[in-house]
Amino acid sequence: TDEARIALDTLTGRASNLFNPTLRIGVTGLSRAGKTVFISALVHNLLHGGRLPLFEAQKSGRIARAFLEEQPDDAVPRFQYEDHIRALIGDRVWPDSTRAISELRLTVEYESASGWNRMFSRGRLSIDIVDYPGEWLLDLPLLGKTYAEFSRDVFELAAFPVRAGLSEEWRARAATVDPNADADEMTARSLAESFTAYLKAGKDDSRALSTLPPGRFLMPGDLEGSPALTFAPLPNLGDVRPRSGSLHAMMARRYEAYKSHVVKPFFREHVTRLDRQIVLVDAMQAMNAGSEAVADLERALTEILNCFRQGRGHLLTDLFSRRIDRILIAATKADHIHHESHDRLQAIVRRIADRAIARADFSGAAVDVVAMAAVRATREGTVGDGSDALPVIMGTPLAGETIDGERFDGKTETAIFPGDLPAKPDSIFQDVDSNSHPIRFVRFRPPRLERNTAGMTLSLPHIRLDRALQFLLGDQLA
Ligand code: GDP
Repeated sequence: TDEARIALDTLTGRASNLFNPTLRIGVTGLSRAGKTVFISALVHNLLHGGRLPLFEAQKSGRIARAFLEEQPDDAVPRFQYEDHIRALIGDRVWPDSTRAISELRLTVEYESASGWNRMFSRGRLSIDIVDYPGEWLLDLPLLGKTYAEFSRDVFELAAFPVRAGLSEEWRARAATVDPNADADEMTARSLAESFTAYLKAGKDDSRALSTLPPGRFLMPGDLEGSPALTFAPLPNLGDVRPRSGSLHAMMARRYEAYKSHVVKPFFREHVTRLDRQIVLVDAMQAMNAGSEAVADLERALTEILNCFRQGRGHLLTDLFSRRIDRILIAATKADHIHHESHDRLQAIVRRIADRAIARADFSGAAVDVVAMAAVRATREGTVGDGSDALPVIMGTPLAGETIDGERFDGKTETAIFPGDLPAKPDSIFQDVDSNSHPIRFVRFRPPRLERNTAGMTLSLPHIRLDRALQFLLGDQLA
């Protein structure tokens, strides 16, 4: 059974942990939140002695060595660190984003901060970094829903004003099928395709709606086209039991297969084995798209955080083999705004996360919020002088980006006045006028390496990556 397996895993896990301490850190967030860039930058800064003044073990010189080791889980793809770094540093282009789960082991040898521990031996910690799409976490509520309940909820959400237009075609298509008719593969497939198209439509930049489950419809990983993904909700099912051989029965069976073969194993084998978690959010993109997108991000974040709760009455309580004791919610890409706005961004993310944190009720887990840039692609400056001086950021916009009608060639450094974030975090939930764009947003090329404080090595510049590291790792290297 699940329980027996977990109990065994826990025991063997504890035993091996005595000899070779490991810390499993989950890195998640919705697509394009910045997971790949974050992991690449974190590892690169640790391997190459980056500037990390807020990361105590590094600052005090206690890290003797950091190196990559073979990734211990044979069935999980390795995070392609070298490819990503080659893109970032070699070609100065952004690496390929996360499409599925992957893992990397980074081992750190360190001097303990306490003299007592130092007498025995040098400390050694293996950090297993597990990268996976946040979309997959949104599937958790499905475990508690029957196919009929799932169908009803999806149709209800699809009729909301923000989504009604996007879902119109699929709903019209669904209205023409009779759930009680004989099961037919082509009908199932065309419904699944039209349903997936609706889910994808919410994701374009201007709408920036956060995702709805089933998570694999957007991020299929290696399941693309498999029967477990070839289903869709059906309208007006009521409480009738499906007739055997009907379309309804086929869809319900595939939905159950999705839950038992896709969702459950993912949580059991990956999420429940994590010790710590960082959740990346692209708050600025949501803010640029307007208050509805912000509300939607809040909803998605609530569902994501809910997955790490381990209290009573939780769908996964019995599955957890380890206890997540620290959760960091991080707004990335803070290099798009001037440092004067960093604290505002942090306050905004805290505001978006507040309700989610309160609802998830993480008894015992420490939760923190940070605004950071895993890779800082800009520098700061001012334009004008005296009382007219304006804070600007400077960077090389990607080829093809435009601002005020000007089109960039990917080679020229440009100064941009990014605009101010609202001082009152609450205001992001209201649209002053529907066209208000708080931040001027262009995508920049990755930066050149910079010298660290001692001038010895070159590393990737960042903003507050060290603060994130200190929260996630600091106590383990004490
Ligand atoms: P993932 O889907 O979560 O793996 O997202 P990525 O890590 O691939 O990031 C998506 C895109 O966001 C990248 O291609 C970059 O354009 C941008 N991005 C991510 N992190 C940063 C950052 O720290 N600074 C800047 N300027 N851009 C970032």
